[in-house]
Amino acid sequence: MNEKLIRKIEQLKERRNAVILAHNYQPGEIQDLADFTGDSLGLSIKASQTDADTIVFCGVLFMAETAAILSPDKTVLLPEINAGCPMADMITADQLRQLKQEHPEALVVCYVNSSAEVKAESDYCCTSANAVEVVRSLPEDKQVLFVPDQHLGQFVAEKTGRDITLWPGYCTSHVFITTDDIQAAKAKYPEAIVMAHPECTEPVKALADELLSTSQMLKLAAQGVARQFIIATETGIIHSLKKQNPDLEFIPASHRAICPNMKKITLDKVIASLEEMQYEITLPEAISTRAKKALDRMVEILPTK
Ligand code: SF4
Repeated sequence: MNEKLIRKIEQLKERRNAVILAHNYQPGEIQDLADFTGDSLGLSIKASQTDADTIVFCGVLFMAETAAILSPDKTVLLPEINAGCPMADMITADQLRQLKQEHPEALVVCYVNSSAEVKAESDYCCTSANAVEVVRSLPEDKQVLFVPDQHLGQFVAEKTGRDITLWPGYCTSHVFITTDDIQAAKAKYPEAIVMAHPECTEPVKALADELLSTSQMLKLAAQGVARQFIIATETGIIHSLKKQNPDLEFIPASHRAICPNMKKITLDKVIASLEEMQYEITLPEAISTRAKKALDRMVEILPTK
């Protein structure tokens, strides 16, 4: 059944001169059919470099918006218009404007998991892969406002020693991973390396061996440093980890760490997307031009890991 659907997608892709990008948290079958899988930074770079006319973005709304801003001459489609990100919705442009008024001298760094309007109000954008490098690149005498993820912001503050004002946003899926989960997994797999995403809470991160973005997790696993890894992030990444390292064992820290929005994309929705050219993501030029400045800076600053 899937093979039939995948063949159909291949035909439609050719007809539309389309490329399919999928985030590492997408369902396995979507990751398998994508031309590129990756984290937000990798996919943003791919979106800005592709020659295709159409980008089908298998992810959530802020990712498709980012692709649309970075590739203004391309048609960007999100196969499920209701695939949002609760963390991105935790700060509005009005709230950020208010925060800026309270700290007029500060620079604003926004996590890519934010709306285009919030990006337009920001000086720099970053992903979990390059947040530390982005903040390190800022003048040392400048205060930094970091939105919306308090946990990534805290991680950056610790790594850089900078004075960072945090916004109280968080990922509703990563907070399901608890210290009990990590301790239980470590007791069962004492030789395993614990890789945690910076979106996890501080107590969970304190128990991890490595704090990494999903692309950095894939890199570390491929280096042969261990046979077993406990994975403290959204469980979708385990598909790519297993596929790229079939001899290694990857243990999800919690089976509850699932992002329901990421799982809204299906093969049928990808077909409908390419057939009907839906749902096209467009933004007002005034927003997109300002947001692009922050995003261009993000794409230029590559992670050191
Ligand atoms: S995993 Fe968390 S941050 Fe990522 S899209 Fe889902 S809710 Fe948003």
